[in-house]
Amino acid sequence: MAPQKLAAGNWKMNGTLASLAEIDRLIADHPTPGCDVLICPPATLIHAMAARAGTALAVGGQDCHAKASGAHTGDIAAAELKDAGASHVILGHSERRTDHHETDAEVLAKSQAAHEAGLIAVICVGETEAQRDAGQTLDVIAAQLAGSVPDGARAANTVIAYEPVWAIGTGRTPTNDQIAEVHARMRALLTARFADGADMALLYGGSVKPGNAAEIFAIPHVNGALVGGASLKAVDFGPIVAAL
Ligand code: PGA
Repeated sequence: MAPQKLAAGNWKMNGTLASLAEIDRLIADHPTPGCDVLICPPATLIHAMAARAGTALAVGGQDCHAKASGAHTGDIAAAELKDAGASHVILGHSERRTDHHETDAEVLAKSQAAHEAGLIAVICVGETEAQRDAGQTLDVIAAQLAGSVPDGARAANTVIAYEPVWAIGTGRTPTNDQIAEVHARMRALLTARFADGADMALLYGGSVKPGNAAEIFAIPHVNGALVGGASLKAVDFGPIVAAL
């Protein structure tokens, strides 16, 4: 089984009910995409988006708590995301790792919680610019995968997103060779650790746009993209979906 192709949009802290018109457009323009399509809107929109999209696209959260319920003001449990209509949750995004000081161990615990709730965890890894300049990229990725991906990960419940921190929202991307090198290493590590690691979808993320998507999707072991800015408008995300 080849990895399932996935075009994932991360709306981050952008979007109101009016923004749902964008998914109407996306679905109308791409009624039969050749890949799975996922949008992770702000949590406030998950329920309305899932109800509106039906089976046309998957909806996900951008974070969840490691605990199943309890006194955690402002947090959201994985089962609550699922109840609202989510099938996926992004975990360990670099903005969470930076802004909320999330460690690999926390991302691992959240991923386990997501799996227990029946969600697909989209686990993010990626090096900083300083780490790349110091030649540490492959070691950083290996350590993050080892520390953030739980033993219960399977192709059916886990997607890995390689997102170089310096490429997120900057308009800069690694070279194709640099993406290929990281994805090949991730595939080797996941295949060594998990029985169906060869089937886990590996996404590239960081300044994916309509203009560079096809080129990035042609790189071996790139099974899709996690897209931030260019996922907000159907006019941008549609061509990325079509390129996969
Ligand atoms: P970007 O963000 O596409 O705006 O660079 C990607 C991400 O943070 O997932």
